[in-house]
Amino acid sequence: MKEKIIVSACLLADGYKYDGTNNLNKSLERLKDKYEFIMVCPEVFGGLSTPREPSEQVGDKVVSSKGVDVTYEFELGAKKSLEIAKNNGCKIAILKKRSPSCGRDYIYDGTFNHKVIAGDGVFVKILKENNFTIYTEDEIDKLI
Ligand code: SF4
Repeated sequence: MKEKIIVSACLLADGYKYDGTNNLNKSLERLKDKYEFIMVCPEVFGGLSTPREPSEQVGDKVVSSKGVDVTYEFELGAKKSLEIAKNNGCKIAILKKRSPSCGRDYIYDGTFNHKVIAGDGVFVKILKENNFTIYTEDEIDKLI
């Protein structure tokens, strides 16, 4: 039986990325023989629509580019996604870098100027608290 791993949904499909496009990554194909992908999108699972305004972390809040506080939706979606991960016995995740939900170690700085600072996305924070191993889409080769 293949090991189940969490993957940011926008790396695999349309309908999740904030602007209605995707972040498709063909390198994931190389993992299909070894792993079963469990797709999650914390932002959509938290109730946000696609397309939607981009959001960034500002202090302990998440705020859209129009100034709307979406912290509740981000946290709800992160919790739902964690639950899905646990229910599927996942311990590993491949997540989209720099996202305010899925970014690991680096996220945008809250100014919407494409500047990156040290920090974790809302989903990554709770995955780390639950001892998940997290890779970005640039680290897929480490799982082959
Ligand atoms: Fe992709 Fe994660 Fe953003 Fe959803 S929340 S669009 S899965 S980066």
